[in-house]
Amino acid sequence: MTSPRAYLDHNATAPLVAEARAAMIDALDVVGNPSSVHREGRAARQIVDTARSQVAALVGANPESVVFTSGATEAASTLLTPHWRLGRAPLTMSKLYVCAADHPCTLSGGQFAPDRVVKIGVDARGVMRLDQLAAALVSHHGGEGQPLVAVHLANNETGVIQPVAEIAAIVKGAGGVLVIDAVQGAGRLPLDISAACGDFLILSAHKIGGPKGVGAFVSASGLLMPAPLVRGGGQEKGHRAGTENLPGIAGFGAAARVAASTVARMGEVGARRDAAEAALRDLAPDLVVHGAGAGRLANTLLFTVPGLKAETALIALDLAGVSVSTGSACSSGKVAASHVLDAMSVASGEGALRVSLGVETGEAEISRLVAAMRLLLARRDGARVASAA
Ligand code: PLP
Repeated sequence: MTSPRAYLDHNATAPLVAEARAAMIDALDVVGNPSSVHREGRAARQIVDTARSQVAALVGANPESVVFTSGATEAASTLLTPHWRLGRAPLTMSKLYVCAADHPCTLSGGQFAPDRVVKIGVDARGVMRLDQLAAALVSHHGGEGQPLVAVHLANNETGVIQPVAEIAAIVKGAGGVLVIDAVQGAGRLPLDISAACGDFLILSAHKIGGPKGVGAFVSASGLLMPAPLVRGGGQEKGHRAGTENLPGIAGFGAAARVAASTVARMGEVGARRDAAEAALRDLAPDLVVHGAGAGRLANTLLFTVPGLKAETALIALDLAGVSVSTGSACSSGKVAASHVLDAMSVASGEGALRVSLGVETGEAEISRLVAAMRLLLARRDGARVASAA
């Protein structure tokens, strides 16, 4: 009998939780369109409303403030626009300020022209340079429109947590609007939209045990809204047209309910991650952990082992039944240099391996990772000895 694999890539996507699977299966049998007024339609609408309340509860928001989308990328593309409304009045955002270590969904600038996007750097730990942000916003020309700022709450590669309350204070002081990509923080950090102080949060279902292809943006006020990206029918109060992805939304809601309780288990997850880090360091004392100087998500470990190519290690680990990644999951399957490590001025020709745990990750999975790394490192050390001889 083959032993189960060790899935240590939760930051790429987390396994579907049983509650989400059950909610999705139930929703598949609901025949109605949520916009229809008959009984079947009302049953479908009830599913969307329940999920909306569940997602809102995860971030301490009003259910009315949740707009479902096809994922975090669509949510970011909608929010990162120059065209807004404050109540009935049109409002323009003239420039977008993003963090150089952001996920590509915000880093790419959304609907802004490239010359309207300003990248704010991070320090060597991966924390956004608040001095640079403040200086950039001071020189923002308010006559053309307001500044729009986007930043991730927690980094998908390093796990580094950004000081969003301090960022929000700077943005508010400059009269700007703040979008927080909370995708990797949800279910791992306490999340309260008013405490986070952002104007909008972005969420993705598949990072918290829900299905892939569904997400949301959540507004703090409900008064300020972006022009819709997807136009058509009046779904989502006109903020996102198209018949709702009923099973996806049902699964997202159920996963959000579960995620609200996983935050309390991050101590256990952190202990397991730290044990993995210590065991790997025992094997390779020259191992470098990226982002170690900053507050990090308890589940994430990004490291470089000198003399061990991350890409080669990834394939060897996969063959040994251990799933990790090299930084972020890459849609094309090719491994590119990490823009996050570049932004941190980390020169790592070998690349980096990311191990990301979930609440269900047990000691057996960590042991499997360590055993596979032991073999790889023995090979590296053997090759070093041979080349020195
Ligand atoms: N933001 C962050 C921080 C992410 O890690 C990801 C996915 O890797 C996304 C956004 C994009 O999410 P989605 O897959 O829902 O488009």
